[in-house]
Amino acid sequence: MNEMKMRFLSRVENEPFARTSIVAFLMPLNPGMEEVMEIKTMIAEAVTNAIIHGYDGKDDGWVEIHVRYEADHMIDIVVKDEGCGIEDISLAMQPLYTTKAHLERSGMGMTIMSTFADDFHVVSSAGKGCVVHLRKQLHGQTTSTHQ
Ligand code: ATP
Ligand code: MG
Repeated sequence: MNEMKMRFLSRVENEPFARTSIVAFLMPLNPGMEEVMEIKTMIAEAVTNAIIHGYDGKDDGWVEIHVRYEADHMIDIVVKDEGCGIEDISLAMQPLYTTKAHLERSGMGMTIMSTFADDFHVVSSAGKGCVVHLRKQLHGQTTSTHQ
């Protein structure tokens, strides 16, 4: 088992920092290329949501990420903000649903996270911030049988 927590301000330039730090933390598990890409994408979506929706672009909110993994390479990632929260989670989960169409958002972040995670759920209510739970089983490098 291994575990880490990080906390950073809701500035857009912190999103790539968070993504690369978490991938670095998971390196001992020797994740496959596709798994790394999927983890980076999920973190990018959750952190971007915290910044642009949770804190509405304001750069003085805290985003917290908690990562842990077990010996069986099951990883747990929790991304938390203390922003405006989500009133209707099942509506927010729907593909193409966005409250920021004017910022050219496509409403696909939740759908992408639920596709790449083995387990994905969101705990939130209006005014109470948002907590995104992501679980993923890593299988490591896959070697092709075709040369
Ligand atoms: P995209 O992710 O494709 O850029 P999007 O962010 O609008 O677009 P989703 O990530 O699927 O789409 O989120 C759907 C909606 O859920 C958002 O438009 C927003 O209203 C709400 N939402 C998501 N995350 C949060 C959050 N952390 N705090 C408040 N509202 C959120
Ligand atoms: Mg999004």
